Amino acid sequence: MPYIQFLGAAGTVTGSKHLINTSSDSSGKQGFQALIDCGLFQGQKEWRERNWQDTPVPAREIDAVILTHAHLDHCGWIPRLVKEGFRGPIYATQPTIELCSVVLPDSGHLQEEDAAFYNKRKMSKHDPALPLYTLEEAQACMQYFRPVAVEQTVQLHPQLSFRFVHAAHILGSCMAEVTLETGTNARPTRLLFTGDIGRVRNSQIAPGKVVHSGPQEGETADVLVMESTYGNRQHPDTDPRPQLASLIRDTVKRGGSVIVPAFAVERTQKFVFMLKELMESGQIPRVPVYCDSPMAIKAVEIYMKHSEEFTEQAADLIKKYDSPVTWPGFTFAQTSEESKKINDSKFPSIIISSSGMATGGRILHHMAQRLPDPRNLVIFIGFQAPGTRGGIIKGGAKEIKIFGEFIPIRAQVAALEQFSDHADPPELLQWLHTFKNQPGVTYLVHGEPAASSQLRDLMKKELGWNVQIAEYMGKFVIGNL
Ligand SMILES: [Zn+2]
Repeated sequence: MPYIQFLGAAGTVTGSKHLINTSSDSSGKQGFQALIDCGLFQGQKEWRERNWQDTPVPAREIDAVILTHAHLDHCGWIPRLVKEGFRGPIYATQPTIELCSVVLPDSGHLQEEDAAFYNKRKMSKHDPALPLYTLEEAQACMQYFRPVAVEQTVQLHPQLSFRFVHAAHILGSCMAEVTLETGTNARPTRLLFTGDIGRVRNSQIAPGKVVHSGPQEGETADVLVMESTYGNRQHPDTDPRPQLASLIRDTVKRGGSVIVPAFAVERTQKFVFMLKELMESGQIPRVPVYCDSPMAIKAVEIYMKHSEEFTEQAADLIKKYDSPVTWPGFTFAQTSEESKKINDSKFPSIIISSSGMATGGRILHHMAQRLPDPRNLVIFIGFQAPGTRGGIIKGGAKEIKIFGEFIPIRAQVAALEQFSDHADPPELLQWLHTFKNQPGVTYLVHGEPAASSQLRDLMKKELGWNVQIAEYMGKFVIGNL
């Protein structure tokens, strides 16, 4: 019998990897094996260490990867999979492939930097410390990507086909509808893997959203594998702009700078457009804005190319202000020299840099330099996984370890939850109510345990569905439906 096995994002929000095997023959390589997403584990050491373990099935025996979107927790393990022998096609939408060609090499570069840092300080148990994969290896894996249009059916095997439908999460993001001929039923089995699900509502509540809100409605599924990142929290239904403007005004008034850790993809673009709007309307002073991410320019260029995914609001902003890269007062730092110059700027400024959870990247330099000064402000505009530096700082820690040293945190720390690109429970229910059938089983993935269990209880109560929480390495045999 065919089965699904959860190889990541089970019990945590990172490392998304769900294996479909068209046959559960115990000898292993009998069926066709497709991996839905191939993400990097981030956050606590216990999870990160899993990045170094082999897949439970040899990588070369995985026949294909179906990739929902270009966030690292969904695509960041692909170069490692290829390094371990995977040679099959990786299916994704065109914007996802373009974004991956930027984020994967950057991830390889960060892996190399980390290894070099540990070697310099002789801090690793391993001598020498090796990168999980290199920039070059990440570039090389791009040859396996194959573009798939939204709603185009791809037959991977006589028993297995899939198509992408919009997930409305970030540019290019999709859910994967998988059709499986089980042979036991006359009717094929429909599996729906949501990847990450975008906000269901638009405009005021999810302002500045670049891509269309609202995942594909009217779905059917026998097995639903759904994310639960925000399963126990609701996004505030207030406009974040007044609060953001007041936080920035206060910081500038006391001579401080604003530090914003943000994913270079989607979140940075959204935030930069909002700053521009606030500045043009006089709600915040015209201070220099530094977007310190080599990826950001490339990501902006990819965004500008894919106007088919813009919301009306994003289209209006782009028509009015054109590409952020050309705005006066906004500096996009490419080289590390340009990045270092930002450190020399004494007057108040706004610095946006990645990584979004401060797990690595240039944001660490800015944090190390500016966290000890109480005049400064750190604003979190994205989800901060427990155990990441972002999660620790947001949790109110008094000091944080950066580059092997403890840095005191005296700067003001704020968090705005409205920027999320994930649907919250009321939005998820709104979307689930559009389903044409009740899935035989729903597996919740991509959530901290408390988030997944609260969402499970809510779905049972409100919908009466059979909802389970996926366990790491757990198998679900599809014939059991
Ligand atoms: Zn995502």
